[in-house]
Amino acid sequence: MDRRAFLWQGVCSSLPLLGSNGFVRQPGPRPVLRPSESGLSEFAKGLSGTVFRPGDTDYERLRKGYAAKYAGHPVLVVHAANAQDIQATVKFSSSNHLPLAVRCGGHSYAGYSTCDGGIVLDMSGFRSLAIAADEGHARLGGGMLCGGVEVETAKSGLATVLGQCPSVGVGGFLLGGGVGPLMGKYGLGCDNVLAAELVLADGRHVRASEHENPDLYWAIRGGGGNFGIVTEFVVTLHPVSRVLAGIIVLESADLGALLREFREFIAGIPDELTVIALVAARPGHKPQIVIEACYVGDPSVGEKLLAPLRHQPSVVHDAVQIRSYLELEQVTSAEIPPRYEEHCSGFFTDFDDQRIEILADAFSRAPFLVECFLVHLHGAVSRVPVSATAFPLRRAGITFDVSAGWTPPDGQRAASDWIEALKTTLPVDGDGNYVNVMEREGDESVRLAYGANYARLQQVKAVYDPQNLFSLNQNIRRA
Ligand SMILES: Cc1cc2nc3c(=O)[nH]c(=O)nc-3n(C[C@H](O)[C@H](O)[C@H](O)COP(=O)(O)OP(=O)(O)OC[C@H]3O[C@@H](n4cnc5c(N)ncnc54)[C@H](O)[C@@H]3O)c2cc1C
Repeated sequence: MDRRAFLWQGVCSSLPLLGSNGFVRQPGPRPVLRPSESGLSEFAKGLSGTVFRPGDTDYERLRKGYAAKYAGHPVLVVHAANAQDIQATVKFSSSNHLPLAVRCGGHSYAGYSTCDGGIVLDMSGFRSLAIAADEGHARLGGGMLCGGVEVETAKSGLATVLGQCPSVGVGGFLLGGGVGPLMGKYGLGCDNVLAAELVLADGRHVRASEHENPDLYWAIRGGGGNFGIVTEFVVTLHPVSRVLAGIIVLESADLGALLREFREFIAGIPDELTVIALVAARPGHKPQIVIEACYVGDPSVGEKLLAPLRHQPSVVHDAVQIRSYLELEQVTSAEIPPRYEEHCSGFFTDFDDQRIEILADAFSRAPFLVECFLVHLHGAVSRVPVSATAFPLRRAGITFDVSAGWTPPDGQRAASDWIEALKTTLPVDGDGNYVNVMEREGDESVRLAYGANYARLQQVKAVYDPQNLFSLNQNIRRA
C-alpha cells in the first residue's frame, strides 16, 4: 500500500494540492440582486463576528472547500460569532435574495459550502464542546470538526458516532446521516443526535428534540442542511476506549475475487464489528481493497471473527490490533487539500456476482487512479425503522461512493466519462442514497435519495423554509 495510509485518507491525500485556475464548473444559481456597497458595509458593521471580502487573506481559504471544481466567489464570507450574527445573516440573505451557503468542515463533495455571488456563513466560531459524562451526552457547537470532538470525548473514555476524517464537520456529517466505525453497534451519527438548536429561515432560534418541534427533529436526522442552521447538537456518548481495529489490505490482479472475499467476510457479522472498505485501482498496479475493521467488544471474540479474512492469501498488510479508539480515528491527516473529482454513489442490498463483475471490470480498465468506498450498513443502523428519522437506508446493504480524481485543465472529461459509464451499468436499489456522498445530480436523483421519506420531508420543508432559503444542499423542493 504505497499511496493509501488509511481508508478515508484515500479520498483525502492521493492527489497534490491543485490550483483553482481554469476549468472550474459554475456552481449554482446566480443572485437575483446584488446589494450595494453601503448595504454590505452596514450589514457587516452590525455583526459581532468578522466579514471577509474578496482580497482578504482568509477569503481565499474560506471560499474553497474540499471539492475544488466548485470553488465559488461569494460576495462575503461571514464568520459568525454568535446566534445573533446568524440571524442577521439569514435576514440579510433573504431580503437581498442572496444565495446562502453554510460551511462547517467544508467537505461537501457537491461544493455546497460555497457559492457564487452570495454569502458563505462560516460556522468555525461555533466550536464549543461540553461533555456531561454522567448524563452520557455532549453538546457540540454547530461548527465543530469530528477530530476535535473525538480528542475531547476520549479523555473520558467516551465516544459518539463520527467518521474517519478529523476535518469533516459535525454539521454536514450529522445532518446527512453519518457513517463511521462505531455504527454497527451504536447506529449512525444522526441516530445519536438527541436534540439540536437551529436558526430558522424566519430568524427564530429554536430547539428540536423528541418533545420540541418533533417534525423538525425528525427531518434534521438525515435531511441535510435543508431546515435551518444548527448552532448546537446534543449527542449521545458511549463508553468506548480500547477496540480491536485497524486495516487489512487485500491485493490481487483478480479484483472480482477480492470483492467476493469481502462479501463473504461481511455476511452475518455481528453489530460489534463495523467494516468499511476502500477499493483502489490504477494502471500498472494490482487493485487493492483496504478494509477497515473495528470490533467494539471482547477482543478474543473479535479475533475469531476477523481470522478468516486475515488468513486470506491475498492479504498484503495487516494492522489490526487492540488500540485506543482515538488512535484509530486519528490515522487520517487533519488537513485535507481541495481535490478535483467526479463521483457517483448509490446503495444496494444484494452484493451479487453481477455487481461484483461490473465493478471489477470498470476498475480493471481505469485509465487513472479510481477509488470506491463500500460502506457496510448493518446492525443498529438497520434496526431503526425507515420512518423513524429522515435517513432512508435502514436495511442491511452497501452504500458506495466511487471517485475519479482529475487534473486541470483537461482531465475532467476522461474522469467524467469513466464515472458515467460505470453509473449506467452498475444497478442500484433506487429507493435511497447517502446524501453526504452525492454530487450535484438534479432534483430527481435527490428525490430518490431521500426515498420513502421524501414526501414527509417536503411537508416539513414547507413549514420551516417555505422560500427555500436553505437551498445549497441536496435540496428538498416543496410539493
Ligand atoms: C475527506 C472526506 C472524508 C469523509 N469521511 C466521511 C466519513 O467517515 N463518514 C461519513 O459519513 N462521511 C464522510 N464524508 C462525507 C461527509 O459526511 C460530507 O461531505 C459532509 O457533508 C461533510 O460535512 P462538513 O460539515 O465537513 O461539510 P460542509 O461542506 O461544511 O457542509 C456540508 C453541508 O452541510 C450543511 N451544514 C454543515 N454544517 C451545518 C450547520 N451547522 N447547520 C446547518 N447546515 C450545515 C450545509 O448544507 C452544507 O452545505 C467525508 C468526506 C470527505 C471529503
